[in-house]
Amino acid sequence: DLFYRQLPKVELHAHLNGSVSFETMETLIKRKPHLNIEHSMTAIRHGQRRTLDECFEVFKVIHQLVNSEEDILMVAKAVIREFAADGVKYLELRSTLREVAETGLTKQRYIETVLEAIRQCKQEEVDIDVRFLVAVDRRHGPEVAMETVKLAEDFLLSSNEVVVGLDLSGDPNVGHGKDLLSALEKAKNCGLKLALHLSEVPSQRDETELLLNLPPDRIGHGTFLHPEVGGSDSLVEKVCKQNIPIEMCLTSNVKGQTVPSYDKHHFQYWYKRGHPCVLCTDDKGVFCTDLSQEYQLAASTFGLTQEAVWMLSQQAIGYTFAPEPIKQRLEKKWAELKKEIL
Ligand code: 5GP
Repeated sequence: DLFYRQLPKVELHAHLNGSVSFETMETLIKRKPHLNIEHSMTAIRHGQRRTLDECFEVFKVIHQLVNSEEDILMVAKAVIREFAADGVKYLELRSTLREVAETGLTKQRYIETVLEAIRQCKQEEVDIDVRFLVAVDRRHGPEVAMETVKLAEDFLLSSNEVVVGLDLSGDPNVGHGKDLLSALEKAKNCGLKLALHLSEVPSQRDETELLLNLPPDRIGHGTFLHPEVGGSDSLVEKVCKQNIPIEMCLTSNVKGQTVPSYDKHHFQYWYKRGHPCVLCTDDKGVFCTDLSQEYQLAASTFGLTQEAVWMLSQQAIGYTFAPEPIKQRLEKKWAELKKEIL
């Protein structure tokens, strides 16, 4: 639908390697024929669902395909262009730093290459502002988390506000947040904004209780926070009191089977309370979606008017980790476009 494509949008929860499109994947698969990888191993198509565990297997396959500086540069540029083509005006990309001995990739070069992709897109005048969140994979434990925070801190100072924050992601069934607390505290203290995957599965209640004390600047998913799904009043109260925006990814949660159906998505619960909610794609490549589709899906599932949809996208500007002048520029852009589109 044209309205959703034209709607200016803010994307705040996009994992780089989960966002690789079918077309880019084609190129990568051709580049590495010896891996014998097929498309069915890198994307969950319409009507298909997988368990969350199976989703994490998909990322392992993609990581085999994206393992050099050349791959990362290509993938990051393509992903940025695709978001821009979908009407995303501001994007926060996140990615887990990897080193690959075979190709000489280091974690330092990993960040530098993503930043180079962002710089090249800007130079090519792609109509989108892009920032980067350095991701901590919880599976890798506290030492790697601390090392990642240190790298992120270096880039926070040197990247001219392109690196703005830290993400905590990875398989929620592995490890415990208490082991990562000191790394996350350090990140917060040095000025990195925190976007943490919280309560993605029901067993994370204690961990979430603990990590909400940091507090994080945004919550990823938060699927099992509220009491109706096994969360608790105390979790809801903490989130509300601190007014922490929640990044919501409808297709991802339904395809990954943490939410039984679109109409049962927790967007409903939080949106009704007037809590800050932001619609996001999570992994547009893996889950075969884009942000326009996510807005349209939310509108049709929950009966949102175009005015309400506009408000959702505009309010997201306030939840970005962008410097204040950028937020003001975005507000201006929205005001101008509103006359044309709504
Ligand atoms: P990358 O960080 O390599 O750019 O993107 C893929 C990685 O993002 C995965 O290996 C995983 O750590 C993280 N990721 C992507 N989607 C999800 C999700 O839905 N939940 C969690 N917890 N992590 C995710």
